[in-house]
Amino acid sequence: SASAKTSRKKTSAVSDDLKQFEVTTEEFKDCVVKHLHVTLGTDENKASKKAWWNATCAAVNEIVFERVTKTQKTHYQKDTRAVHYFSLEFLMGRFLKNNLTSVGLTDIAKQALEQLDLDFNEICEEEPDMALGNGGLGRLAACFVDSLATLGYPAIGYGIHYEHGLFTQEIQHGRQLERPDSWREYGNPWEICRPESIQEIPLYGYVETKYDEGGHIHKEWHPGRIIKGVPWDIPVVGYGAKTVNILRLWESRASDFFNWDVFNAGGYLDAQVENVQAETISKVLYPNDNTEAGKELRLIQQYFFCACSIKDIIRRYKRAHGNDWSKFTDQVVIQLNDTHPAVAIPELMRILVDRAEMHWDDAWAICQNVFAYTNHTLLPEALEKWSVRLFEKVLPRHLEIIYEINSRFLEDVVEPAFPDNDEVKRKLSIIEEGHEKMVRMGNLSVIASFKVNGVAEIHSQLVKSDLFPEFNQIWPDKLTNVTNGVTPRRWLKSCNPALSKLISEYVDDDWPVHLDKLQKLNDFADDSKFQKVFMQIKHDNKVELAKVIKSLTNIEVDPTALFDIQIKRLHEYKRQQLNLIHIMALYRRLLQNPDYDMPKRVFIFGAKAAPGYYMAKEIIYAINKVADRVNNDARIKDKLKVVFLPNYRVSLAEKMIPAADVSEQISLAGKEASGTGNMKLALNGAVTIGTLDGANIEIAEEAGEDNVVIFGLTVEEVKAKKAAGYNPWDYYYANEELKAVLDWFDTDYFTPGKPGELAEIKRSLLDYGDTYLTLADYASYSDAHKKIDRLYQDKPTWARMAIINTATMGKFNSDRSIQDYVNNIWKLTPCFIEE
Ligand code: PLP
Repeated sequence: SASAKTSRKKTSAVSDDLKQFEVTTEEFKDCVVKHLHVTLGTDENKASKKAWWNATCAAVNEIVFERVTKTQKTHYQKDTRAVHYFSLEFLMGRFLKNNLTSVGLTDIAKQALEQLDLDFNEICEEEPDMALGNGGLGRLAACFVDSLATLGYPAIGYGIHYEHGLFTQEIQHGRQLERPDSWREYGNPWEICRPESIQEIPLYGYVETKYDEGGHIHKEWHPGRIIKGVPWDIPVVGYGAKTVNILRLWESRASDFFNWDVFNAGGYLDAQVENVQAETISKVLYPNDNTEAGKELRLIQQYFFCACSIKDIIRRYKRAHGNDWSKFTDQVVIQLNDTHPAVAIPELMRILVDRAEMHWDDAWAICQNVFAYTNHTLLPEALEKWSVRLFEKVLPRHLEIIYEINSRFLEDVVEPAFPDNDEVKRKLSIIEEGHEKMVRMGNLSVIASFKVNGVAEIHSQLVKSDLFPEFNQIWPDKLTNVTNGVTPRRWLKSCNPALSKLISEYVDDDWPVHLDKLQKLNDFADDSKFQKVFMQIKHDNKVELAKVIKSLTNIEVDPTALFDIQIKRLHEYKRQQLNLIHIMALYRRLLQNPDYDMPKRVFIFGAKAAPGYYMAKEIIYAINKVADRVNNDARIKDKLKVVFLPNYRVSLAEKMIPAADVSEQISLAGKEASGTGNMKLALNGAVTIGTLDGANIEIAEEAGEDNVVIFGLTVEEVKAKKAAGYNPWDYYYANEELKAVLDWFDTDYFTPGKPGELAEIKRSLLDYGDTYLTLADYASYSDAHKKIDRLYQDKPTWARMAIINTATMGKFNSDRSIQDYVNNIWKLTPCFIEE
């Protein structure tokens, strides 16, 4: 069996050796074949690639599941304090390569599969992405659970076991089509169902006010429905596999209890309808990134998983402490990943006050020491508000509790700090007055949490100064910063094996857990031999990506060209349209002057648009139409190619990031909270072209100004320009090239026979006011690209920049983010798990 022998002596919770699972190739191979027979019920002759993949996963799980059990037992015996990471999204991607990396068996598995006449990479390609998230926020949660396990911290991720994750994107005639994502249609080897931990969750109904003999008020919620929450556990394997934590995702089912009446009345079909309604809750992930949906089902999703998770936490706590609540805040901290899970706050209050019959003040003291909240955005359209009417219908008791929290807060906290100031009260109130009364989840989260953090320095500053200034006045120590990070195990070691090997040779092989050690590469930045090897690896990765491009789009690209990559959700604030306009300008320059001096360039996009986001979909269409025209125009002699890769997701990111020369991080300053794609690309040796926004600022600080290309307005300049009354037409008339490119949208140059098909883009940039100041930043962006062209043509200079980028990204390791959370917010201790 694969788990037969281990040989680890160390007593640290963190692993830095990876030779611990002493499994031979022969043993691993036998284990895979055994699972092919006994788990998959097939044999070597008729097994599909999918079956081989399943059998390989099962072999890895022999180690993983044993470590899960050991970890849980140890945490229980030692009664450890743990962080509970509440998130509506976990964008995990694929597991096989990552888990092999963590248990240190990648080479063994490769050889074993080779001996079975199978190609390791082909087998890995069989795995569907687990895409239970939209973008940065969901992927951050995935990197965080990886780092928590790697650093040996007791932690559990809580979320929803969506049946359908983020939609699959197809491109047809240039337009995005959405197809459902059925990531676990035929089972998922990485998850374990735990029916023993099912929870029942109430919804709807009404609240009864009762008085006991002493005249005390007691509230009783009579729910209109009960839903069952079934937990699925997904092991999260820390690097070195000492700690294997779990991600616990809840699936909704109809409660047996509730359906009996209907059944007995002969309503078999009606009962089935109830089942469908209940199961709808965990059916599908809302595909909006950075926008609020405001739909009843979404509120129910939020409450469903928070209520299941809180009950689960309390059940575990009571197992150790019975009804003694005095240790609760020593053992439990809950991190709210944005306000999406903020309804956990009134839910915990409800349980403490209504069920445990605690005094309000004692219950509130517990809450205020349990919750911490991460703010992810300042965009107004993303700040969650629920109508009071809807809240009252779905969660009547929670609405009452929110009113109580609010009135006490306004009276006890705001009034003393801002006496007789109704304006401040109106602003800080959890309830927004107006035509339709709303519950502001951001205010609720700040009021109930002991810490509130932004996700990059500038963003956290803006949270203090612009979003929550009065809260910051009231509680000067509450608002803080934790800059995001990415796990170097997935985003360097596993996705870029050639570069990883080189780093291990020049640095040390424990760099995946000590990323600051990459600094040592600075010593070789000017070493021409090292430069050659480094750039050869980049070239080889580009050759591989070129193959992917060919197979997905049939477009041929030259791997010696500069690969310029923009991968992220399609959003006007991220400004893919700025990139597109500049590509059109380059095309125009080449048409006007075939000798125009620029290196061969390939612009590569990956982006999903929210299905209801009209302008985002228009931009995707425009990119594809421009690509069609440019890629097939012999006059420009292949100097320019444009590629839109369909269905951008974690597994595609893993192929694109190692092959990037240039990383496009061009959001309007003040709009991107942090960004994490920016970190992944720089870590893999891409040079950033970016605005002074989010973590770009910190990337520039680390890499040095000479090794990134910064352009555009600063946050202050944006504010000033908006205050002075921004007029995009000024830029249109002042810049001949910009005007010509925008006018192109009115013609049929890119949409033969259909003039004006792309005109909405021009309109959004002129008639509708250019919300994200695309035109104001155009000239500066174009100059920045000219600078990139010059730098790229000077090979040693470019190699030096690329190396320094990799060398200086140690800070953006999610282990550092987690250590910041631990030191400043969670106060956890690492837990050593025995062999
Ligand atoms: N989507 C995927 C699959 C990612 O890996 C990332 C990156 O970290 C993102 C979205 C977020 O990218 P960005 O930070 O550029 O918005």
